[in-house]
Amino acid sequence: MTVISADDVLAARERIAGRIHRTPLVRSRALSEMTGYEVFFKAENLQKTGSFKIRGACNKILPLSEEEGRRGIITASSGNHGQAVAYAARLCGYSATVIMPEGGSPVKAASIKDYGAELLFCGTKSGERIALAQKMCAESGAVFVPPYDDPFVMAGQGTVGLEILEDLEDASAVLVPTGGCGLISGIAAAIKEKKPDTAVFGVEPEGSASTGISFRAGKRTALDHINTVADGIRTTIPGELTFPVVQKYVDDMLTVTDEDVIRAQLLILERCKLLAEPTGAVAFAALLRGALPEKFRGKRVVSLISGGNVTLRQLADCIRAR
Ligand SMILES: *Cc1c(COP(=O)(O)O)cnc(C)c1O
Repeated sequence: MTVISADDVLAARERIAGRIHRTPLVRSRALSEMTGYEVFFKAENLQKTGSFKIRGACNKILPLSEEEGRRGIITASSGNHGQAVAYAARLCGYSATVIMPEGGSPVKAASIKDYGAELLFCGTKSGERIALAQKMCAESGAVFVPPYDDPFVMAGQGTVGLEILEDLEDASAVLVPTGGCGLISGIAAAIKEKKPDTAVFGVEPEGSASTGISFRAGKRTALDHINTVADGIRTTIPGELTFPVVQKYVDDMLTVTDEDVIRAQLLILERCKLLAEPTGAVAFAALLRGALPEKFRGKRVVSLISGGNVTLRQLADCIRAR
């Protein structure tokens, strides 16, 4: 038994309907010709807050009782999850605190503040921030919203998978950028219980491939060093709750280089006018390097653009780095 099933994802979909955007599935003729697959993009870069993370955050926060919510919401992530939690908390009328690393990105801090959350700065390691969050929750009764290792968060992220099946019933494969595995565990549970013939692949940069290594080892395995341009998935180990779902449902894990990722990001922008952050381009990078098994040639393949939160300055750096 895993912690979520397709039914939980269906329930999440009902719960968050109307609070999030129904994002489009976009076919690219130019990139299909270039890669030899029939390429579709699921455009979660166009989602509220700029990434899919709002789905999990809403699915976690909406079912809280008034009394629980009034004690406040806490998270320890400075990136897309922090923005999503700040947004979802405000939507429900609850106060949120986001614990950021000392010296964290001022752009991200400003955007989390814009969504109405309070900022606290603590340490440089995620372990220190999570410890502080847990201490605060124990003292005040506030609710901690984990970035991936939570059944409500996982089910919320899985709603992306239901939308993909609705828009492209005969998809041969779905490719998902993978960090702590909240996103891929939700998507895989939804897709594999409804359409087992559709393959689900996770994609990671070589310098941050903890899930691929764990998948092959058959057990959660930590990396002691992370090196990738994809800042949304710098995770050293897959989640405790998410990893068994990955083992049960995911077909395989693929890797790409940072060079593939930047090339993918710029091609998606140039050819499809969709702005992905580097992490958001990781799935398409696997198609560019032809990493799928041969039987998928010419087949309908969905590449998830998981987020688009990138500043023009960062984008200029990516263009220069090419
Ligand atoms: C969080 C994130 C991911 C990975 O999600 P996990 O649930 O940690 O695997 C991928 N892309 C973007 C843009 C993200 O913000």
